[in-house]
Amino acid sequence: MNRLSSSESYLPIFRYPKTLSKSAKLIYRFLVITILLAAGTWIVYSTGGTSYAYPYVIILPVLLSAVWFGLPGAIFCAVTGGILLGPWMPLEVSSGTFQSTQNWLARTAFFLLIGTFSAGLFQSVRKANQRHLQALEIDQKTGLRTQAALMRGLERLLRRTRQEETPSSAILLLRMQDLWEILQSMGADTAERVVKDVAKRISQNIERPHRIYRFSKSELALILSGVSQEEVDSIFEIAKGVGEEETIVNGIPLRVQIIAGSYLIKENDQNAEVILNRARTGLSVAIEHNAPYRRYDPMFDQKTAERVQLIARVRKGLASQEFQLFYQPKMCLRTGQHIGSEALLRWFNHENKMVMPGLFMPKVESTTLIDPVTRFVIARACEDIRSHNLMSISLNFAINNLMNQSLVSDLGRIVSSYGVSPESLEIEITEGALIQDPTHAKEAVENLRDQGFKVSLDDFGTGYSSFQYLTHLPLSGLKIDRAFVINLEASADARTIMKSMISMARALKLEVTVEGIETEEQRKIVTDLGADLAQGFHFSTPLPLPQYLQWATERSQTAAQHLELKGSKSP
Ligand code: C2E
Ligand code: MG
Ligand code: MG
Repeated sequence: MNRLSSSESYLPIFRYPKTLSKSAKLIYRFLVITILLAAGTWIVYSTGGTSYAYPYVIILPVLLSAVWFGLPGAIFCAVTGGILLGPWMPLEVSSGTFQSTQNWLARTAFFLLIGTFSAGLFQSVRKANQRHLQALEIDQKTGLRTQAALMRGLERLLRRTRQEETPSSAILLLRMQDLWEILQSMGADTAERVVKDVAKRISQNIERPHRIYRFSKSELALILSGVSQEEVDSIFEIAKGVGEEETIVNGIPLRVQIIAGSYLIKENDQNAEVILNRARTGLSVAIEHNAPYRRYDPMFDQKTAERVQLIARVRKGLASQEFQLFYQPKMCLRTGQHIGSEALLRWFNHENKMVMPGLFMPKVESTTLIDPVTRFVIARACEDIRSHNLMSISLNFAINNLMNQSLVSDLGRIVSSYGVSPESLEIEITEGALIQDPTHAKEAVENLRDQGFKVSLDDFGTGYSSFQYLTHLPLSGLKIDRAFVINLEASADARTIMKSMISMARALKLEVTVEGIETEEQRKIVTDLGADLAQGFHFSTPLPLPQYLQWATERSQTAAQHLELKGSKSP
């Protein structure tokens, strides 16, 4: 980021602390030039007079005056320097010979020439620099101030907060959630117009003194002066309301969902970067918790530190093979047969204690570490299918896996390299992915289906449950969440809800799995309601591979005995 702001940047040795006030700066500069002029005069006198080379040391304060005070300063300094080395300065100190008037006048004229020329030069460089700065600080497309301007604005604000007793200020970072989709479907120009319009209307609706900046493609930053935290919160509500209003572009009404993070600026905040990071942390926490808004809280940083440590431990654990796959059987409700399993990750940490995925996967899923973790799961599942002839296996894909184009389009090739056919694998995705980025999610699901994988929607009913995407996606199945099973025996309403979910899925030709069946009664109910498959502790908990293989053998032996028994009973 370019932070050149004034002439002192050209001569770094003459920089002074940024915290100096304007008048202190003036005094400082004047003193430096006076000292240089006095030193120059003394050097000329003490080295024997103006007949030697030293008179030209006066050029240094002249140049500096040109930089600091422009043309008037340069002229004043050149004339002063000329006079100091003028009529009273001997040509030769030792012999007491004085200079001719022409001599010192010509020298003064030379100083004036240098001063005028350099003042002009510095002026044009300064102007070019200002133009460059302006271009950097104004977004060409929307006319809004840019991130560079925001950083400078924050630095300025911090200086003011430290120097004067100013009322509290705050930063509100606003993210336009659906802008990416507008950009994708209607192009960059439309998206830019939406940003401009939203920024303008937010600005119009805020009464408090403020400045609005375009922080990134889809983020706006508001610096608010003289506000309390409660006022910042209500300004967020205003911005949110603006996003919900329609923006008409080319006759099409568009809306954006706004989410935000805020931070109340303190006088001991170190720099603009810190302030911005805190507002950004608030925003990230809001995104993570699916909330519209979060104020920054120092606890967030502690959580981030814990999260970083956990991620480091998972990374290490992956390298030292502390992860294993457990398999939970999937049952066909109609025949009672075992038809495959879901692979579930387990971590045996350095103390060999089993850590459940709920304790680390949500954190891993939002980092790039999800890629190696999922690749490990895929590899291990394929090896197990290959070496133990396992039936169909379901694998869980996080949002970031589905959005990872190279993983999605390579999956067919990866599993084939283990000699496994894509038909043996089912990929479970969650509703979150479909909501966050429907266009990409759709492409990824289509890609997986084209390669021959089954794709089912996991934890159905716990998220946004928009039926709309079910009709648009080439899904093969739906897994109804355990939350809908718990009350099945006791509540007629729960049974009605389960029935309608199963009917809806069947109408869409999706294979229905009910998760979390724990009792025989629950099994009977979902079988009667027409579900296809079930999974749950009633059949088996997730098991390590050897136990799962044993369970499967025993299960098939019992099934065979049942068949035999049935056969012997029938006439
Ligand atoms: P999920 O994919 O919905 O997996 C089903 C979870 O329900 C499993 O929890 C399973 O042990 C539990 N469960 C199954 N039947 C019953 C039952 O009858 N009663 C109860 N109370 N629970 C039952 P688990 O293994 O702790 O996994 C939790 C979640 O972690 C999974 O939910 C999945 O979202 C995630 N996960 C697990 N392995 C992976 C993985 O390899 N990759 C990704 N991305 N996520 C994974
Ligand atoms: Mg699952
Ligand atoms: Mg599930």
